[in-house]
Amino acid sequence: MIEPSVTAIEGSFVFIPKRLSWFAIGLCPDLSPGVMRLKMNQIKNSDCSILWHAHSTWSIRIGKLHLLIDPFLDDNPAAKTKASTLNPSHILISHGHFDHIADAASIANRSKATVLANYEIATWLTKHHSIQNTVGMNHGGTFRSHQDGLKLSVQLVPAVHSSSLPDGSYGGTAGGWVIDWHSDKSSGRIYYAGDTALFSDMQWVARTHVDLFIVPIGDLFTMGVDDSIEATRFIQPSFVMPTHYGTWPPIAQDAQAWAKQIEAKTDAKPVVPEIDKPWSLPISK
Ligand SMILES: [Zn+2]
Repeated sequence: MIEPSVTAIEGSFVFIPKRLSWFAIGLCPDLSPGVMRLKMNQIKNSDCSILWHAHSTWSIRIGKLHLLIDPFLDDNPAAKTKASTLNPSHILISHGHFDHIADAASIANRSKATVLANYEIATWLTKHHSIQNTVGMNHGGTFRSHQDGLKLSVQLVPAVHSSSLPDGSYGGTAGGWVIDWHSDKSSGRIYYAGDTALFSDMQWVARTHVDLFIVPIGDLFTMGVDDSIEATRFIQPSFVMPTHYGTWPPIAQDAQAWAKQIEAKTDAKPVVPEIDKPWSLPISK
């Protein structure tokens, strides 16, 4: 497994997941398939850093963009970052539960970030928190932007979960996010599954290769470890990171043990995040 503290691209060599072995073989035909070593100038830093704030709150930075997913910080017993310190360009909300939306309004009002959410949540944020810069969406819809040579598309995809807002209002249906970007420097694809059970239609996201899959493992409120491994088999990503665990005792998990299972049972490379420690996503294309 890869620890963010030993970022693959920082050294002279980088580990290549089995799925990318065609790429490695083309460059180093004497290497055998599987996890192999490759000089770092043969793989691109994607210009994309991933940072876990604990629970399901993530900062994804691509070039000048900062996408903040499901902000739950100030009342999150596992988080170290305070909401008042973040200035995202975009906030992505997967569903209305407090552990995914708690700090969205304060951050959006201060930073003027564009808030992407389903239509019901976007409307609620405008009505109850005076947030104007919202994009109301629904499953299958894609938000697109093109700034400073960076093309970004963010699609809201289904998740099997409930969604009600903190005041009891209807929160639409829960979702996940598929983030695609392309620039002169890099391109890539991240699938953040959100809070969800395992469901077979997840695999349609993998029609186009997923570089990073962020999958819940906490169980009880979402899929647990066993189903997260099956989901990783569906998606066949280069890298997979766990989310929605460790915040409270009911969703405690041993992420290192999860990573060993991912390595043994899938072709993906597990990356166990450390809270507030950025990890650079390596890209093979
Ligand atoms: Zn949740």
